Amino acid sequence: MLDVSGLVVDYGPVRALDHVDLVVEQGSITAVLGSNGAGKTTLLRALSGLHRPRDGAVQLDGHDITRLAPEDLVRLGVAHVPEGRGVIAELTVEENLRLGGLWRRDRHWLRSGTGEMYDLFPPLADRRHQRAEALSGGERQMLAIGRALMSRPELLLLDEPSLGLAPRVSARIVAVLRTLREENGLTLLLVEQNAATALSVADRAVVLHLGRKVADDTADTLAADDRVRRAYLEV
Ligand code: ATP
Repeated sequence: MLDVSGLVVDYGPVRALDHVDLVVEQGSITAVLGSNGAGKTTLLRALSGLHRPRDGAVQLDGHDITRLAPEDLVRLGVAHVPEGRGVIAELTVEENLRLGGLWRRDRHWLRSGTGEMYDLFPPLADRRHQRAEALSGGERQMLAIGRALMSRPELLLLDEPSLGLAPRVSARIVAVLRTLREENGLTLLLVEQNAATALSVADRAVVLHLGRKVADDTADTLAADDRVRRAYLEV
């Protein structure tokens, strides 16, 4: 579904991604691992149109999407849940969800879709008329994912969904991600610093280090690879 080849992103003199190749199969969960500054967030931002690559190509279902703007990518089915959640604090839960669905230009979906999100994330249903700023960290993450799902994506890019959450809360979010993959065939690209969490849910994983891809394999193989774990995954 997604085919990234030779992707290069620079911040001025800093090369954040250095010729990264990546293939994401339809309906799979792929984890992007690596320590601070490895380039994980930059990769997601480049894939969602927020950074213009200096070089390389990105294809989605065989179409070149390398230099498309974020709004065009949303229309093509790519949704991004940024690190730090990115919900709008002053808006209610319901308003945030509806905002995510506006791209679809479908009034019926705005109603039925919010209902689907409340089924997926029941804590949000009780708080639908509260402002997002009143939510706990876990509820904000649920809202951020729900808002992205309201655009009915085929590919969901998730930046550190378990960051700062209690293990019980992140387990619940991971369970929802699994359900989405299994029942809706959603494809997920998941950035995580917590390798254990990510490898337990992913089919495949790539490891970035200083902007380069240093490993790319099935999650089971990487989880069992002591050299990779010790060198790059801090476990
Ligand atoms: P983290 O987990 O800390 O977010 P990361 O793997 O997501 O790390 P990136 O945030 O993608 O890494 O950063 C990759 C490199 O690019 C780092 O060297 C970082 O310092 C640099 N970088 C990131 N954003 C900028 C920016 N806006 N301006 C300059 N350099 C940046």
